[in-house]
Amino acid sequence: MEKCYLCPRNCGTDRAAGELGFCREGDSIRIARYSLHMWEEPLISGKRGSGTIFFSGCNLKCEFCQNRVISHGSKGESISVERLCEIMLELQSMGAENINLVTPTHFADKIAEALREVKKDLSIPVVYNTSSYEKVDTLRMLDGLVDIYLPDYKYFSDELALKYSFAKDYRMIAEAAIAEMFRQTGSVLIENGIMKKGIIIRHLVLPSCRRDSIAVLERISELLPKDNILVSVMSQYTPEFAIKADTKHKELRRAITSFEYSSVSERAISLGLDGFFQEKSSATSEYTPDF
Ligand code: SF4
Repeated sequence: MEKCYLCPRNCGTDRAAGELGFCREGDSIRIARYSLHMWEEPLISGKRGSGTIFFSGCNLKCEFCQNRVISHGSKGESISVERLCEIMLELQSMGAENINLVTPTHFADKIAEALREVKKDLSIPVVYNTSSYEKVDTLRMLDGLVDIYLPDYKYFSDELALKYSFAKDYRMIAEAAIAEMFRQTGSVLIENGIMKKGIIIRHLVLPSCRRDSIAVLERISELLPKDNILVSVMSQYTPEFAIKADTKHKELRRAITSFEYSSVSERAISLGLDGFFQEKSSATSEYTPDF
């Protein structure tokens, strides 16, 4: 990787030579944690847990990130492609319902390399859990290797995307990425209460952003066939992380209100979107893994 153009940041940095781009990650894969995780959507966590691998760094770095110790900070350790393959097999032998690659974008080339090696030995689905700030060409490296995509659709407004994620082009990029993910997986397939293929589009409702959330849901219902996808409307925003980071965005210093969440959820229902809603009680740091 002489110059890195893996994601839409297009840094052009030489990661092998130690140069760092927006994601602040070098040439080798780094991970912060791997474990069985019970707090994904029920179709993903199942009874035994999702085999999550949390990658260090991030190419989006949202102001409100709840995993900021690893996404904004540099927590994690370097591993080889071979070790990543071993970890996936280890999670499978621990009983994981799937292999869940969390924030993988900036290591997508190495992940594709690992999956080309290990996929034949995996009897469980591979899940790619992403912000959707992805290039279509990069996603094409994963075609046939990923079974389930969990893409976020974070913002409708370009201004909001710039303000919280330094990515004014987020919506345009995310829509192309999600279309490619759907092209790869096709319709949702569920067997014995566990998802085997397809996409679940996630949207986190943020404080003071109710109208933007509704615009996101309306856009999703225009873009994709509603019967073939699932949508997860999330209420788990916890302000502690933004407060601790001394955010300049005052509105991020509070949790969302019941009105904000219920008005967004009601719009999802009226649009006929199928999927998941969260209990308001999930808006607590208790559900954030300790890195
Ligand atoms: S993966 Fe990292 S270095 Fe490469 S273009 Fe994206 S942000 Fe820049």
